[in-house]
Amino acid sequence: MIDYIIKALAFNNEARVYIAHTSQTVAEMVRRHDALPAAAAALGRSASAGAIMGAMLKGNQRLTLRIEGNGPIGKIVIDANAKGEVGGYCDQPHVHFHNTQTGKVDVKAVVGTQGSVRVVKDIGLRELFTSESALVSGEIAEDLAYYFTVSEQVPSAVALGVYINPENEVESAGGFIIQLLPGASEETIAKIEAALAKMPTTVELLHDGKTPEDILDLLAGNDAQILERLPVRFHCQCSYERFARGIVALGEDEIRNMIADGGASAQCHFCNEVYEFDIEQLEILLADAKRNQK
Ligand SMILES: [Zn+2]
Repeated sequence: MIDYIIKALAFNNEARVYIAHTSQTVAEMVRRHDALPAAAAALGRSASAGAIMGAMLKGNQRLTLRIEGNGPIGKIVIDANAKGEVGGYCDQPHVHFHNTQTGKVDVKAVVGTQGSVRVVKDIGLRELFTSESALVSGEIAEDLAYYFTVSEQVPSAVALGVYINPENEVESAGGFIIQLLPGASEETIAKIEAALAKMPTTVELLHDGKTPEDILDLLAGNDAQILERLPVRFHCQCSYERFARGIVALGEDEIRNMIADGGASAQCHFCNEVYEFDIEQLEILLADAKRNQK
């Protein structure tokens, strides 16, 4: 199954529902960063949420979701856009804890319970929009529900999960976000709460192979209408040209040093891709830098 998000209107047309299947995207991120299981779960939950938040945007709009707690993983940064492209990293992917009672990965222990959730949106205007809320649980889903409710004033329920198999591989990932539309009735709110109370955990849903459509059916039954399906894929904004422009911007002296060193390599911290620049390529960039200075 390819990764995708469904957008739906449900619960008497008084709520928007976004459901994401992000298994391949998350597996790719975890592979690139060589993340251990608890870090992989934290990164994967954040990426699934980021993918959905990207799907809430339009056209060329994009956003960065940054979760920074006081746990050993450091900050988690996810880039996503309205085209279903998602990328991201965490400061320290080689951290892992599991709950000794449940045997499950302990996301809260790697993320921490104090810190912030920050969202920077680029909606194509001159200024970026930044909004922020406090970290409230370190489990990511609750933190985002709090973010939407407090910072964006949109009451939301968020469920996220990454199923890591006994071989410590990401087998599946995904989640959903339900957002109340303005003027939603008490009856609808009660209906959503009742539906959520009956839902298995996201990891159970993923483990059972449930598709976004199956999850929508479990949540809302006939009281839902799918509006759109958006394919999701791992994508990083980096490119050879982007790093080349960065090297040109360093200036002539710096580039001469790189040439004297026999070449240079640059690594994208978002996706760990390495770009090599040999002497011949650096000579071209040096010429560009000289032209820029005139
Ligand atoms: Zn990259």
